[in-house]
Parts: sequence; structure tokens; C-alpha cells
Amino acid sequence: MKWLRTTITQIERPAPGFALLRFAGQPEIQGEPGQFVMVRGAWGNDPILARAFSLVEVGVHGAILVRVVGRGTRRLADMRPGDSIDVLGPAGHGFDFSGKGDVSVLVAGGVGVAPILMLAESMAASGQRPIVLYGARGSGELVLCERLASAGEVAVATEDGSRGHRGYVTDLLLGVLEKQPSAHLYACGPEGMLEAVAKMAVRRSVPCQIALESPMACGKGTCKGCAVLARSGQYLYICSDGPVLSADDIYGEEQ
Ligand SMILES: Cc1cc2nc3c(=O)[nH]c(=O)nc-3n(C[C@H](O)[C@H](O)[C@H](O)COP(=O)(O)OP(=O)(O)OC[C@H]3O[C@@H](n4cnc5c(N)ncnc54)[C@H](O)[C@@H]3O)c2cc1C
Repeated sequence: MKWLRTTITQIERPAPGFALLRFAGQPEIQGEPGQFVMVRGAWGNDPILARAFSLVEVGVHGAILVRVVGRGTRRLADMRPGDSIDVLGPAGHGFDFSGKGDVSVLVAGGVGVAPILMLAESMAASGQRPIVLYGARGSGELVLCERLASAGEVAVATEDGSRGHRGYVTDLLLGVLEKQPSAHLYACGPEGMLEAVAKMAVRRSVPCQIALESPMACGKGTCKGCAVLARSGQYLYICSDGPVLSADDIYGEEQ
């Protein structure tokens, strides 16, 4: 992995607080759904560390979806075409979706939609039509829905009921699992959602891959700051063992 200094070519703002940043790939940006890049702008030392973002598009342009939560994401979302950024990646291990079962069910919560969109589009490109369940607090936080709908069958849930099912995306998942007990699950979202999805899968012995997005500092296995305790009792590192891990390895029953 090498740092690439590149230029922002386009910015879409799909909703307040979100920015889809496209950047030039010279050479082409590589990566699989679920892999991520570390990104920082030429803004001096504030903040000093790069931030992690899932890849949404690869090729002659790379793209990331930024949700503003703090200083680094604010600075990235405020950038303009022509601004310079440094990108390190592709990092980590992505989703393994080669020949997995008849029915793929993708579950996205909040900005977890970023790798799930790339996964849905990759599955669509290989002839699959996944079921995509997408949850957010309200309709203003549901982004890129049209692209998702081009790639799969989408159902949405909002906690405030402003669009789709009122409640959690896991409510939708329960219904789907009743009809599709042999589905393969792929999920990315907040920790609580991932834990709920993972436990539902483990209880039913449904294969499930989860992409974890806990904070990390270096993105390449040096700082050891992104450790998660696996069921085996060993620590796994989200940046180098993940971010996509087996639900069973993290949330499986103790042996
Ligand atoms: C593998 C991976 C993929 C990611 N993909 C995306 C993505 O596609 N789009 C996106 O917008 N974000 C993504 N994130 C999260 C993103 O890296 C953080 O939101 C970002 O680092 C926050 O930087 P900041 O300077 O804006 O916020 P900070 O000032 O560092 O933090 C602001 C607040 O957000 C909290 N926070 C920071 N990082 C995280 C985190 N990772 N998870 C939960 N809370 C956090 C802090 O505790 C604090 O409360 C990903 C993270 C990882 C590890």
C-alpha cells in the first residue's frame, strides 16, 4: 500500500451532512467492496491523522461517502473539486461474495450504506439481485437510494417513521429471514445494529459477514488501536484482519 496524492474531481451532496467525494485515480483506484482507504487533505496538522472511509467506487475515479461527525469529516466534506487529498489503500479485507447461496441479504445502517452500495452494485454486475435493507434515524439520512434500487430490491426503515418501516432495520431483517432461511447476510452499520444482525444470524446458523467501522489511527496494522476480542479469545485488528469479519467469529456463542 502506498500513499497516493490525488485531486478531488467531483463532489455530490446527497443530503445535509453527507458528501460523495470522487477523486482521480492515476493509476486506477483498486479495491473490493468492504475495503477502505485512509484519507486526509492538505490541511496541516488539524487533524493530524488520516480518516478511514469505505470505498464506494473504484477505477479511473475512486469515491468515498463522507458523513460529517467531527473535524476531519467536516474538512473533507467542505473540500472542492481541484483540491488535493492523500489516499492510502485499498486496505483490509472486503466481503467475500463469490458464489454465496441463492439469496444475498445486505443490511446497511446509516453511513454503513457506503460499502453496502458497492457490494450491491458488484453483485448486480455479476448477475445477482440482492435484497437490500437500509435503516437510518430519519428520511433525511437515507442517501443514494436510487443507486441501491438499481442494484437490488430495497426496503427502508426509519426510527422516526418518516420513510418506510417505522423502527429498526433489524425488524425488516427478521421478516426476510422467516421467508429466506438460507440467505447469506452482509452488513455494515453502527455497532449496536451489527451486533443485533450478527446475533440473529448466529442463532439461525445463517452465514453472515459484518464490516466493522470502529475508530482507527493508522489503517495498516501498526498502531494496534482497532483491536476487537474474537470468540476464540484472540484479538483481531479491524484494519488488517477486517474490516469485514465473520459474525460468528465475533458474536458466536462461547465454546
Ligand atoms: C474501516 C472503516 C470504514 C469507514 N467508512 C466510513 C465511510 O464510508 N463513511 C464515513 O463517513 N465514515 C466511515 N468511517 C468512520 C470514519 O472513519 C469516522 O467517522 C472519522 O474518522 C471521524 O473523523 P472526524 O475527525 O470527523 O471525527 P472525530 O473528531 O475523530 O470524532 C468525532 C466523533 O465521532 C466519533 N467517531 C470517530 N470515528 C468513529 C467511528 N469510526 N465510528 C464511530 N464513531 C466514531 C468520535 O468518538 C467522536 O465522538 C469508517 C471507519 C472505519 C474504521
